[in-house]
Amino acid sequence: MTDSTIPAIVDRLRHTFDSGKTRPIEWRVAQLGEIQRALREHETDFAEALHKDLGKSRFEAMLAETGWVTAEAKYAIKHLKGWMAPTRVSTPMMTQPGRSSIQPEPKGVVLVIAPWNYPLSMVMCPLVGAVAAGNCVVMKPSEISSHTSAALAAILPRYLDPDAFAVVEGAIPETTELLEQRFDHILYTGNEHVGRIVMTAAAKHLTPVTLELGGKSPCLIDRSADIEVAATRVAWGKFINAGQTCVAPDHVLVHREVAQQFIDTLTRKVKDFYGEDPEQSPDYCRIASERHAARFAELLKGQKIHLGGRVDVAKRYVEPTIVLDPAPDSPLMADEIFGPILPIITVDEMHHAIKFVADRPKPLALYVFTKSAALEEAVLSKLSAGSVCINDAVIFMASPELPFGGVGNSGMGRYTGWYGFETFSHMKPVMKRSFRFDAPLRYPPYTERKAKLLKMVM
Ligand code: NAD
Repeated sequence: MTDSTIPAIVDRLRHTFDSGKTRPIEWRVAQLGEIQRALREHETDFAEALHKDLGKSRFEAMLAETGWVTAEAKYAIKHLKGWMAPTRVSTPMMTQPGRSSIQPEPKGVVLVIAPWNYPLSMVMCPLVGAVAAGNCVVMKPSEISSHTSAALAAILPRYLDPDAFAVVEGAIPETTELLEQRFDHILYTGNEHVGRIVMTAAAKHLTPVTLELGGKSPCLIDRSADIEVAATRVAWGKFINAGQTCVAPDHVLVHREVAQQFIDTLTRKVKDFYGEDPEQSPDYCRIASERHAARFAELLKGQKIHLGGRVDVAKRYVEPTIVLDPAPDSPLMADEIFGPILPIITVDEMHHAIKFVADRPKPLALYVFTKSAALEEAVLSKLSAGSVCINDAVIFMASPELPFGGVGNSGMGRYTGWYGFETFSHMKPVMKRSFRFDAPLRYPPYTERKAKLLKMVM
């Protein structure tokens, strides 16, 4: 029987990596195919687990979990040959005759630590990038989404090469023990506090990290925007997964001239989506835990509630809630909300909204709804964010052509599509010189004449 302690698991995977088994394209494509097959054959099991954890509807389970990962795997299979091929680059005069290229190579054994909010895709999207790049992977799902964690641990080993992959379930003690091991890359998704713990642990082994963190993602609504479309898209982006989405609009900054119209339309849209009583809607999710639900009850104290506001901690239910003009120093505006509460702040001019965002930590996502090219340009040139989406919310995540990641407090590094392949690869520069001609220029003795020549060729 194989030893299943954490150090033994990492040793087993390292042994596999060192054997070269994971390098051929055939192995990688086969594993990516197995990822797709596991998701297809167990779509119902995963959907049930996601429903137990978060009350996730089947549609959202497909859209943002199983379907998303399947699409990522399909995209990786389609492009893998091109990604793996060395890229020729030019060779400068000093090193002629010669050839230069960049050759991707797998990093080795990598660790993926995931949170509970998209408990399947946050494990498996990084997995796709790591497999495409030819690595062995230890996956650590979140203990808070325990049903999905158990499903991943039960199902994936039946499909993926057991020599190269492992799912380690558990909470802080298990993650801490994992972090004591030496990995060749760690991708962590979760909160900033644990991000620091991960980075500190990685420093001991000089392991590179990708930190996918969160933050307060602002949403600017200009008076020139199509308010009907803007409110519809914001309602969807905010209340999908009951607001427990890292790139959900955290708060809205709306121009005074359209504020009432926006609030009215948003209110109507929430009712269109989830009915008069969203608790009865099969499409509206639950909060991850009673502890998380209780936090929302606290956050709402003393706020001006325009819509919703009901919290049932025992049922892990929080109504889709709109709060008007919270004080900038209220707890609601201090940390990422990460739930179905949308504060709407009215501004007299959009440059006030830009200043509001600029004065705060760099967000993971930034949204602006406008028809004004000048405002679009001002937002893009003055504000930094992990990603920017103009005239929509959250949906930019569906593009495998765009990298996904944060900046500053919202994280470091990126993945999805080619960028996942790149993150889990070492891009090895290779220069091949010819024996044919060996210019004496660089060799001692260094003379004045050689110095002059050097200036000319550099
Ligand atoms: P979480 O509590 O599930 O924690 C994430 C992981 O960290 C878990 O696997 C957990 O076991 C581990 N962990 C927790 N405490 C630890 C400790 N002290 N030491 C070592 N490991 C520990 O999830 P969370 O942090 O509540 O996730 C929510 C946050 O994640 C939000 O801020 C959200 O914005 C962010 N997020 C970011 C992205 C992104 O792609 N940037 C995606 C999803 C969520």
